[in-house]
Formats: sequence, C-alpha cells, structure tokens
Amino acid sequence: MPSRIHLAKFLSRRSLASETVEFTFSLPAGVAGVAGLAGASAAPSQAAAAGPVPSSAAPWLSEAELKFRPGQFISVQVGIDDDQNPILRSYSLASPPQRRAELAIVLRLIPQGLGSQFFDRLRPGDSMRFTGPMGFFVNELSHSGDVIYVATGTGIAPILPMLAETLDRPEPGRVSLYWGLRSEDEVFWQDELAALQSRHPRFSPYIYLSQPRTGWTRLRGRVTGPVLEALPTLRTPTFYLCGNGKMIEELKASLVSRGIDRKRQIRTEAFFD
Ligand SMILES: Cc1cc2nc3c(=O)[nH]c(=O)nc-3n(C[C@H](O)[C@H](O)[C@H](O)COP(=O)(O)OP(=O)(O)OC[C@H]3O[C@@H](n4cnc5c(N)ncnc54)[C@H](O)[C@@H]3O)c2cc1C
Repeated sequence: MPSRIHLAKFLSRRSLASETVEFTFSLPAGVAGVAGLAGASAAPSQAAAAGPVPSSAAPWLSEAELKFRPGQFISVQVGIDDDQNPILRSYSLASPPQRRAELAIVLRLIPQGLGSQFFDRLRPGDSMRFTGPMGFFVNELSHSGDVIYVATGTGIAPILPMLAETLDRPEPGRVSLYWGLRSEDEVFWQDELAALQSRHPRFSPYIYLSQPRTGWTRLRGRVTGPVLEALPTLRTPTFYLCGNGKMIEELKASLVSRGIDRKRQIRTEAFFD
C-alpha cells in the first residue's frame, strides 16, 4: 500500500548550536492526502535544485495533526532527480507528540548536502512534503530496569522526546543519557536537560566532548567507554543508541560481547555510516 503524503508549512527556524538548526512546521487544516511520494513526478519540477515546494503546489493535501511516537522519523522530499523521482531524506521528530498540529526537526546543516540545502532555503509559508511518521526506534512500552540513552550529535533529536516519555512513567529504573559531541559550540538543549533532571531525580545526563577547547572542565572523550564502565552497575538495562553509525556498531558489539541481549535490550537508529 502506498504511503500517505503529508504537507506541512514551514513556520520558523532557530539556531541551536554551530551548524545545528531547529525547523518548526505547522500542519495546515483542511488539506487532504494523495498516495505515494513516487507520484511526485506530477509535482512542479523546481525540486531538482532541491528548492522548497511552493505553497501553490496544492493539491498535495494533509491533515491537521500528526500522530506519532517519540523516536519516529519522517521521510522528506528534498528534491526531484533527473528521472522525476523524489529525492528523500529522513529526519527524526524532535517535538513531543502532544504538540500534534506542529512538528519540529533538528538538523545538522551539511555543506553542499541536498537535504541541508532544501531546509536552509525554506522561507516561512513554504511547504514540505513528507511521508511517515515511521520507524521502530521507540521506547519499549515499559521498562522494568534501567534505561540508557546514547546519542552523538543530532542523534539527540529523537532522544529528548523519548526521555520525556520514559521519565513521565512511574517506572523504577534509573535513566541516563550519554551524549557525545565534538566541542562546546555543538552543545544545545542544556536547559531542557537540566529541567528534566530537576523534575526527575532518577535522570542523569552526561555530556562528553571529544575535542574540547582548553578550559572545558567537564567530561571529555567519546561516549562508548563511559557506557561500558557503567555496565556492571546497571540493573536489567535497555539501551537506545542514536546518531553516528560507527558509534552504534562499536557500542552494540561491545555490549553484546558483555552479555547484553542484542534483540531484547538494544534499540538503534543510525543517521549515517
Ligand atoms: C532514520 C533517520 C533519521 C535521521 N534523522 C536526522 C535528524 O533528526 N537530524 C539530522 O541532522 N539528520 C538526520 N538524519 C540524517 C539525514 O537523513 C541526512 O542524511 C542528513 O541531513 C544529510 O543529508 P544531506 O542531503 O544534507 O547531505 P548528504 O550529502 O546526503 O550527506 C553528507 C554526509 O553527511 C554526513 N551526515 C549525515 N547526517 C549527519 C548528521 N546528522 N550529523 C553529522 N553528519 C551527518 C554523512 O557522512 C553523509 O554521508 C537521519 C537519518 C536517518 C536514516
């Protein structure tokens, strides 16, 4: 069955950190759907240059709200290739599902990246065409033990709403976040993490910088080592790993070699290899 296409309107952008931007969209009411992004060949051919879909591109119709679970992603049409096929990029939903009429994504802008250019060129009122939400990188329905989230870079995007969902449950386990970035200017959402920590004493965030400038007195290095060091202290842990594919593969292999069950205790979402 072809996936349903949604149309969202670009509202605003907010710089979060170096080359990291939050883009917010609204889901306009009263617009209906068409089937299959492949049908995009009928769309205006502007997108070969990865430009935004003009507002006049209706009848690409959508709903006024989007139902999704924290951790899921959408597949966005960022252009059209020479054969008139849509060029797609995936983005995790960074907003909480309770904000159903709006959605946010957090993007690392890659120089010359087609997806990055599509978002960078958006102007308020422009349309974004996407399918989803989709994906299985979501919280277990309940956790009987500790929960460990590990992210690198913008891999934090789906993790923040997942953390909020887990922490709002009356579960007994400790919840930790290990977030790896290169340097100070890449760090964001410190207030959001601090707010979660003050509301939920069972939550501990740890931010690691692999290339800090001189003067950084907090945690240094990559996230893999500290997670493995904490392993003996964890009670029936569930791991959620997101971001850089190399970090995910390395950490997953190390966890499995130490007795963690790959299928039952580890969930992953690789943004790139
Ligand atoms: C399920 C899923 C969810 C994703 N969610 C997000 C998200 O929430 N935010 C986000 O920024 N990206 C996310 N990505 C990555 C995104 O789909 C694109 O790959 C990314 O935006 C680069 O696309 P581009 O066309 O701009 O550059 P491209 O030319 O396609 O990519 C250039 C290179 O950039 C590197 N790269 C890709 N993504 C990142 C990144 N996030 N950080 C650092 N380097 C990267 C890769 O090495 C890639 O080969 C997700 C990917 C998947 C599969």
